[in-house]
Amino acid sequence: MKVFVTGGAGYIGSVFVETLCDAGHEVTVFDNLSEGHRGAVDPRAKFVLADLNDRNAVLAAVRDSGAKAVVHFAANALVGESMTNPSKYFRNNVAGGLNLADAAVAAGVRKFIFSSTCATYGPPDRVPMDESLPQRPINPYGESKLMFESVLRWYRELHGLEVVIFRYFNAAGASEQFGEHHRIETHLIPNVLKVALGQASHVSIFGTDYPTPDGTCIRDYIHIADLAQAHMLALQRGKSGVFNLGNGEGFSVREVIATCERISGAKISVVEQPRRPGDPPRLVASATKAHQELGWKPRFPSLEDIVRTAWSWHQKHPGGYA
Ligand code: UDP
Repeated sequence: MKVFVTGGAGYIGSVFVETLCDAGHEVTVFDNLSEGHRGAVDPRAKFVLADLNDRNAVLAAVRDSGAKAVVHFAANALVGESMTNPSKYFRNNVAGGLNLADAAVAAGVRKFIFSSTCATYGPPDRVPMDESLPQRPINPYGESKLMFESVLRWYRELHGLEVVIFRYFNAAGASEQFGEHHRIETHLIPNVLKVALGQASHVSIFGTDYPTPDGTCIRDYIHIADLAQAHMLALQRGKSGVFNLGNGEGFSVREVIATCERISGAKISVVEQPRRPGDPPRLVASATKAHQELGWKPRFPSLEDIVRTAWSWHQKHPGGYA
């Protein structure tokens, strides 16, 4: 199948493109490299360097790709940044996405798969969180993703686009070739591993007074190869749907740091800091629907395995893609 992938030079997109190419699909990657890296694009894919806000470029690229499916990873995805620069999030994630949805409809694309997030729920009334929970985001990042979910629901309704929405919990881990490298790293696991590599003196813990057993935030970490697999299953299935993707188990910031210490064998110095604005205390998925309806079965459900693959990639690529 011909598949059009935005954000294919980014962290999650790079591993999905690799998975697509391994399965023999014909892939066009569309990325502005604002967050992604040219070296993260699988050489078997065609690469288009352009911005989603350039409507004509998006229309032309989708049309020229001949794609039957669009998979939309490209986004700004930092909770903290969204609290200080909301405009960037609404412009790129909503207005940019709209150009892509229009291009998909104009080119007769059949299927649209969208990377949404558990941040669309806000602090949940119950965990584990299934798809029926109300969506009440507490940061512009989550709000921008929710707004684009709404756009897609209407496009499904009115244009007959098949829409699959995945709400990711915390993407982590690496494949042999592709891993996590942000120019400014804000994510927990890579920041801890930087300390293990001797590239940083300590890791900050943002908030130690949350209503959780050890006072730090709890998240559900999910391997990017398992995320990629869920997208493959959605591509093969001719149906719309909304699915949470996580492992159903939560780990606190302190537990993640302890796991990284065990895997790397390094002592990780920590500095306790105030809470980071926009962080909900506890986000843990119920992915029962993805298991039942997609037949999705994660291959790397344990935090140990997730951290081990990340650690192996960071050791082999101490400078990331630089
Ligand atoms: N966090 C932390 N120190 C860091 C990075 C993150 O304490 O250097 C915390 C963050 O406040 C959150 C959790 O770790 O509670 C996961 O954050 P991350 O940015 O990795 O993912 P998010 O849940 O924001 O998507």
